[in-house]
Amino acid sequence: MVDLLSTGQEPEKTTFKELGLHENTLKTLENIGYEKPSPIQAGFIPIAVTGSDCTGQARTGTGKTAAFILPTLERIDLDEKAPTQAIVLAPTRELSEQVAVEAKRLAGGHTCRVAVLVGGRPINKQMDALRKGVQIAVGTPGRVIDLLNRRALDLSQVKVAILDEADRMLDIGFRPDIEKILRRCPTERQTLLLSATMPTQVERLAKKYMRDPQRVDLSEGDIVVDTVDQYYATVDNDRKFGMLVKILAKERPQQALVFMRTKRGVERLYQRLVKKLPGIAMMNGDMHQSKRDRVMREFREGKVRMLIATDVVGRGIDVSGISHIINYDIPEYHDDYVHRVGRTGRLSSAEKGVAITFVMRDQGEQLTNIEKRINRMLPEYKVDDFKAYQPRAPRPTVEDKPKASFA
Ligand code: AMP
Repeated sequence: MVDLLSTGQEPEKTTFKELGLHENTLKTLENIGYEKPSPIQAGFIPIAVTGSDCTGQARTGTGKTAAFILPTLERIDLDEKAPTQAIVLAPTRELSEQVAVEAKRLAGGHTCRVAVLVGGRPINKQMDALRKGVQIAVGTPGRVIDLLNRRALDLSQVKVAILDEADRMLDIGFRPDIEKILRRCPTERQTLLLSATMPTQVERLAKKYMRDPQRVDLSEGDIVVDTVDQYYATVDNDRKFGMLVKILAKERPQQALVFMRTKRGVERLYQRLVKKLPGIAMMNGDMHQSKRDRVMREFREGKVRMLIATDVVGRGIDVSGISHIINYDIPEYHDDYVHRVGRTGRLSSAEKGVAITFVMRDQGEQLTNIEKRINRMLPEYKVDDFKAYQPRAPRPTVEDKPKASFA
């Protein structure tokens, strides 16, 4: 594997024209206002347009969707009568939806059809769409398998298979489904893999299903650092709510995404906030898909100003207005931190995002793990006139300790 781009290195190619894209695509890019390629695009596109397999380490918000969609559009027949030639697998419904929106946008004037194949939505409609013919299928592995089993989806003509947020998909346990799907695609296909992190299980998957993949590595920490001001805030559990209110008053976020560990926590915080503030919404895995879709739409439109979510649903969210990420509960796994913080500091926004992680005093080790992961120390976020934690009671002296006794 060759490292094409290392962190912090300026990409060699700086215009879309130099990346090997067709004239029509260049016009579309101009129309939608993408002036120059992002680093992941500059590194990934020139390899992927040649048909080589390629892995890219990049999170949402770096322009990774266009990095794999643009070369795919170059390599497939975009006629609406053509068979399904590209399949994108993504971990969540929301991300699948976003990828499809971007694919349609980037396809510009072409008649090509994109289908979103995700659970929680009527399968019949998806089968109808497939019957009419789609050139690019985007979906979550579970539903894609379901459609393959019903013989509604045919992957025998696939030229490009894409695994988006591969690390997430493996975390969720999609590995067997992904493998089954890849085995249904022709062996001479091109495989592209995008992942915010590259743990061994992702490397293993790449090794098994990709042919001598080239690697574009834009290590996470530094990208996040460039676009997001990150802090931690020491806070006792029972003062987190007060801290949040203080932060909102101080920061006045354009849009905020609040991450919590549990569905119940999300529900409780939502109930407390909804009485105080307008534009609050929550999202967790228990909610019906139609409701999740509505919340996402309202968040995207800016009607929802603050969304409270668990990692499972929050990780796929890409809304350009998100200015603040609040980790109300410190993420359980340090890679989750990278995913959560990646929801802000968007490419299209000139302003930096802000991420604040609540850390309880017995969670110092978790904070250290995050700092190691992103390779930098987080400064402390302080608010005036607010006691975020009780000073610890002094350690008991030997005399104070109750004497051991046998009854
Ligand atoms: P992604 O990482 O694919 O989720 O993209 C993040 C955001 O950046 C999306 O809103 C894209 O529309 C936008 N974007 C992608 N590429 C570019 C580019 N080259 N210039 C400006 N915006 C872009």
